[in-house]
Amino acid sequence: MAMSRAGEPQVLEGEWECMDCGYIEEGSSNRRPKACPECNSSGEAFEFFEYEEVDDLDDDDLYDDDDDDDDSWDDDTDDEVDGDDWDA
Ligand SMILES: [Zn+2]
Repeated sequence: MAMSRAGEPQVLEGEWECMDCGYIEEGSSNRRPKACPECNSSGEAFEFFEYEEVDDLDDDDLYDDDDDDDDSWDDDTDDEVDGDDWDA
């Protein structure tokens, strides 16, 4: 994420948690709750926590790599077993 442009505040998706009572409100980083409906604390009692990003593309890459490794390993094992059988 680029943070180089100072005039463009970044808006993150996540949740606001009231540090006084633990109340959680989902929202965006630029929308601090005005007050806590649970304990009536002011919005300053809230702290923002960003959602963790789920990256499906990374999973695909990992799967491809595993496939390649399996192929070479199988070939190696087959050769060794064949040789032993014929020798004995
Ligand atoms: Zn609260």
